[in-house]
Amino acid sequence: MILSRFASKILQARKSLFPGHCYGCGSSRSGFVDGALCNDCLGAVCYPKKNICGVCGKSLDFDYEIETYESYTCGACLEKPPPYEKLRHALTYEGPVRELMHSFKFQSHRRLCAPLANLGHDRLLPWFEEWPDATVVPVPLATGRLFKRGYNPAYLLAKKLCEHTRQTVAEGALRRIKNTKPQFGLNIKERLDNVKGAFAVYNPDAIKGKRVILFDDIHTTGATVIECCKALKKAKPKSIRVATLCRTGEN
Ligand SMILES: [Zn+2]
Ligand SMILES: [Zn+2]
Repeated sequence: MILSRFASKILQARKSLFPGHCYGCGSSRSGFVDGALCNDCLGAVCYPKKNICGVCGKSLDFDYEIETYESYTCGACLEKPPPYEKLRHALTYEGPVRELMHSFKFQSHRRLCAPLANLGHDRLLPWFEEWPDATVVPVPLATGRLFKRGYNPAYLLAKKLCEHTRQTVAEGALRRIKNTKPQFGLNIKERLDNVKGAFAVYNPDAIKGKRVILFDDIHTTGATVIECCKALKKAKPKSIRVATLCRTGEN
């Protein structure tokens, strides 16, 4: 673990010093896709399985060959239905995607927005287009983090994806009203407590009676998404779906 963290730091430093290198493996091979990943890393990108819960989108552990897509509801969703209609993601948060996302979110490599959106594009856009009139609401960042980082990764990605669908991206419709600790390193209960009451709809007219697609960059335990949906519901949307570019803990 220590060695892999050290190797990851070396890789990150190398990518900062030599921007012509692949963000996935640090090599300077030719054949870059969008100037971000070499062909080997592109081939190592992991996508969600076909067998997923039709509600929360989580990969199922079934080994047998059935396609459950859309038609199966997992035990957790049956027991406690989530506050959204469906959740879908485009990429598994590991390998090259994790490296790209890390550089995009934490090292100010804003230009990685386009390659990341392109990687998720094929899986998310058909789903966005099922609701062509939907308002897309990015999960907001805490104000302090927004000032420090200078941009909200979820907003930039949503805007890039919606260039194709022409859906409205309602930045600022949902806001953080409470400063929260970063969710990293917290367990599910701590995450839920950390974000409890942290969001509020700032512009109810953008939400009321509308179909809403809540968009986030990374889905981990879902605590943030659940709390955002609770806040959105107070503004009486017609229905809510959730889309995230990546999801952790898959496969
Ligand atoms: Zn590579
Ligand atoms: Zn489920």
